[in-house]
Amino acid sequence: MAALLVAALGTGCGAGGSETPDKAAKAKAAGAAGEQAGAAGALGTYAEKLKALQQARIVAAKKWGLLKPPLVAPQAPKEKPEITTRDGFEVEGQDELPPVFTTVPTEEKVVFLTIDDGAEKDPEFLKMMQELKLPYTAFLSDYLVRDNYPYFKEMQAAGVTLNNHTLNHRYMPALSYEKQRQEICGQQDTIEKTFGKRPTLFRPPYGNYNEDTLRAAKSCGIKAVPLWNEEAFPNRMDWREWDKDLHPGDIILTHFRGKEDWKGSMTDMIRHVMKTVTDKGYAVARLEDYL
Ligand SMILES: [Zn+2]
Repeated sequence: MAALLVAALGTGCGAGGSETPDKAAKAKAAGAAGEQAGAAGALGTYAEKLKALQQARIVAAKKWGLLKPPLVAPQAPKEKPEITTRDGFEVEGQDELPPVFTTVPTEEKVVFLTIDDGAEKDPEFLKMMQELKLPYTAFLSDYLVRDNYPYFKEMQAAGVTLNNHTLNHRYMPALSYEKQRQEICGQQDTIEKTFGKRPTLFRPPYGNYNEDTLRAAKSCGIKAVPLWNEEAFPNRMDWREWDKDLHPGDIILTHFRGKEDWKGSMTDMIRHVMKTVTDKGYAVARLEDYL
């Protein structure tokens, strides 16, 4: 990081044309000193930013009833990790289909929060996530979202990426290729029209898919199909692996659900999942930074 900053600053610190060798040497020395001071200043800014984030999280954690403030994630990787298909279909040309995975390859102690469907539109949840400055990614199904687009526009304005979870949340393997295409491309078009941005990520309802699903998704412009390794509820975690633990790069699924479906609110769910994540020494990172 420091090296990067110095390099970036170095280009902006050119000394002007000098009349004599002596003056040139002085100017060069001044330039070098300026670079050092500049680099220290910039590093200070980064440290300050980090400190401000930690401070904001301490305040927000108290306000929202989290026992510990969320840990700060390391900076986004300079190079995105190579995603390999999870269990893979034995099909020709499989490499060209969007990869399906439950964990992002990384050594960092980070996990990713993904929130599906869109039934519950809890304003407290938006406020909580903004104040805690926690990144997450939404996978929306239009039939649940269309009665309140402004809620999701507010979410998007806060920096959340809105992704594809089909128009009507059907069980994909039961549908023909054409029907699947309508469900996926239809939602691509709806999100693009409503929110101004075409998604690149798709999650099939229930995590169920077949080869047609991936072919259809690809034809609609989908680049990757993230599933999940844990599911978060207001009072528990469901683990997909035998060790019942988080792993670096795990994707956590949860839902836009409220007290009608759950024994708690969305803010209860965040309190619970963040206790698990923080107690285990993990930070929540932004999925888009890694894909
Ligand atoms: Zn769903």
